[in-house]
Amino acid sequence: MFDKILIANRGEIALRVLRACKELGIATVAVHSTADANAMHVRLADESVCIGPPPAKDSYLNVPALLAACEITGADAVHPGYGFLSENARFAEILADHNLHFIGPKAEHIRLMGDKIEAKKTAQRLGIPVVPGSDGGVGPGDDAMAIAKKIGFPVLVKAAAGGGGRGMKVAPTEADLLLALSTASNEAKAAFGDGSVYLEKYLGKPRHIEIQILGDGRGGAIHLGERDCSLQRRHQKVWEEGPSPILNAAARAKIGETCAKAMREMQYLGVGTIEFLYEDGEFYFIEMNTRIQVEHPVTEMITGIDLVIEQIRVAAGGDLPCTQDEIVINGHAIECRVNAENPVSFRPSPGKILQYHPPGGLGVRIDSAVYQGYVIPPYYDSLVGKLIVHGKTRGECLMRLRRALDEMVVDGVETTLPLFRGLVREPSIIDGDYHIHWLEHYLAAGDTKSS
Ligand code: ADP
Repeated sequence: MFDKILIANRGEIALRVLRACKELGIATVAVHSTADANAMHVRLADESVCIGPPPAKDSYLNVPALLAACEITGADAVHPGYGFLSENARFAEILADHNLHFIGPKAEHIRLMGDKIEAKKTAQRLGIPVVPGSDGGVGPGDDAMAIAKKIGFPVLVKAAAGGGGRGMKVAPTEADLLLALSTASNEAKAAFGDGSVYLEKYLGKPRHIEIQILGDGRGGAIHLGERDCSLQRRHQKVWEEGPSPILNAAARAKIGETCAKAMREMQYLGVGTIEFLYEDGEFYFIEMNTRIQVEHPVTEMITGIDLVIEQIRVAAGGDLPCTQDEIVINGHAIECRVNAENPVSFRPSPGKILQYHPPGGLGVRIDSAVYQGYVIPPYYDSLVGKLIVHGKTRGECLMRLRRALDEMVVDGVETTLPLFRGLVREPSIIDGDYHIHWLEHYLAAGDTKSS
């Protein structure tokens, strides 16, 4: 096992990793920018190192500063959290070159899944069902129109290097294709430095369902069921739940086993998420995330397995926590991402938290790094915290979530709490009857009502 882990992140995920380390008896090093000197992860870690000024490129993405921090503190492993360097294959290689462990998958797998075209080809080869689309990238020499016609309109133009919903454009008809291609490609070039794009069939009303997997890097892998993340705004997840309200045990076992088998074949190491769109009873692979995800607590609440602890154990060469048969899905969990944003315009609202009262009680979990008097800096994401609620059934979970949301107080900054208080009372949400465009329609209808 590792002796000392440096956590190359901030906010709630840095705290989450810290908690896992403490339970495992591993010493912790926090790193922080000058803007985060008073952050909770810095206060709770055994040691801390300032790695640069506020902009992430100068601090949390500053690889030489992170290496120096490892050297100074004698850390033997680095946990990257999510975002920042978590899916940077080169960073994993650099750490290895310095005899440091990267707590994550093998660099070759991060690289493979980071290229969405290669990821899709790999998924197909491993027997995972994919969205119908172009065989690989669509370049200037290709007859994009012929390919699109073959797939059938509407089509979606997607960036190979895409992420966070950027570099994605829908072409509803033939007349829209050329503009969608150039817009997506330009956006991807600006955001990721790579303008390669590919085409996919645009699915009308799918759900976003993702499978959590865990591999030991030696050909052992299990799946831990699914999360339904269909409630999205601009392709960003807002509310996640598990199990999916529309999946039965047989369908779960089938897709879960397909994913676990693929991971065994790859000899995948660590936690990962295989993301699908699900429509008319069929799964279509869209991408794989090779890191711990924001919404991982949903799975922890219904399986009782601490994913970060297991991620650290397998990274250190340990075994999987149990066999597939020993994983039991218990009850239902929902996570709300409470952001410091205006709940209507979603404009970020950084600033000082004047009053903070997190909800409590049976089945209520808050993953957050804020406290009363904390100033949310304007430089990073606007997550105040994740409210995760567990119940024996989905009905009980919703009942508890309603109560917990009403109890939660965050004053001084605007938050998305009012949005969730509305959602948890919506008939479609209560019935579990929604898809990936539902939230956008709901928000647009609200705008019309209030204008
Ligand atoms: P990113 O890496 O930018 O997050 P993904 O491929 O994971 O991109 O897709 C993000 C979201 O975009 C999905 O959850 C879904 O809402 C939407 N999306 C992606 N592919 C399709 C598709 N073929 N048809 C309809 N919607 C899609």
